[in-house]
Amino acid sequence: MSEEIEHVKCLIIGSGPAGYSAAIYAARADMHPVMYQGLQPGGQLTITTEVENYPGYPDGTKGPEMMVDFQKQAERFGTDVRYGMATAVDFTAGKHTVTIDGNKKVTADSVIISTGASAKWLGLPSEERLNGFGVSACAVCDGFFFKGQEVAIVGAGDTAAEEASYLAKLCKKVTMIVRREEMRASKAMQHRVMNAPNIEILWNTETVEILGENGVTGVKVINTRTNEETVIPVTGFFVAIGHKPNTDIFKGQLDMDDVGYLKVQPGSTRTKIPGVFASGDAADKVYRQAVTAAGTGCMAALDAERYLSAAGLH
Ligand code: NDP
Repeated sequence: MSEEIEHVKCLIIGSGPAGYSAAIYAARADMHPVMYQGLQPGGQLTITTEVENYPGYPDGTKGPEMMVDFQKQAERFGTDVRYGMATAVDFTAGKHTVTIDGNKKVTADSVIISTGASAKWLGLPSEERLNGFGVSACAVCDGFFFKGQEVAIVGAGDTAAEEASYLAKLCKKVTMIVRREEMRASKAMQHRVMNAPNIEILWNTETVEILGENGVTGVKVINTRTNEETVIPVTGFFVAIGHKPNTDIFKGQLDMDDVGYLKVQPGSTRTKIPGVFASGDAADKVYRQAVTAAGTGCMAALDAERYLSAAGLH
């Protein structure tokens, strides 16, 4: 175990739109931000294709390209962007200590949390067993492997609708498994799904088991109205049922709701610990958009700068 302890003025944990926006503002305010990118550098946008709703891109852009631009902009003003994952934090005793990759310790005058959220799973043993062998939570990453084949996708939100449309362009047939008799997705996305000739929607349907030994061969589903079980022959099974905030390392240190979304003081990014700020999807269960994450990232940097100035640290 390394005993090396580095001290920084502003530590940013996570590298999605919130983290990079915080970095741009913090770097331009001479706070010399150091960012640890986390497990998925660039965050969730790196696993999407088209982004059509981020202002300033009249023709849309691609998620991964947008995040490369975010990083370049943050680095242009001097952000120290590093690989590494925050694995523990200690915000007690008036200090902010963050452990990186289990061994390196960093202390920080201010910490901006922008750890985002990750895909949720159904929790079936067969889903876990076949994960990576036909089961995926990212159509954009893995859809290509199922070109010309039949696949299923579970979920009924915007993500599921978007991914079903994406898969429908590549695959022969997409079966969408929806647990209620309506979808949560926006009307525009619902229309897109319902108008696709090769997407079939199974309403009031839940997944019982994903079938297959070394790869997916089918999915057993149950109609919750009739209790009838059916096997759909598919080679790919996609899960798109929402996300969980990546906040486990803050348990016991910061306030959060039952799902794990960090609590901030209304109208700010301040957590209950002075000098620790939360931004982006980690603290937003309502909007969860790239542009709102960027907005709260900016707020976090401004809040951190005010905190540092008031504390005589900047
Ligand atoms: P949501 O939480 O909006 O939707 C999750 C969906 O999964 C719901 O339909 C839910 O069903 C279903 N679900 C949850 N658990 C299960 C389960 N165990 N079994 C079966 N189905 C389940 O998540 P999304 O990821 O779709 O969207 C998150 C946010 O991001 C939303 O605000 C969305 O609008 C936004 N978004 C916007 C996009 C865009 O504008 N281009 C693209 C993608 C997302 P039920 O409805 O029954 O609860």
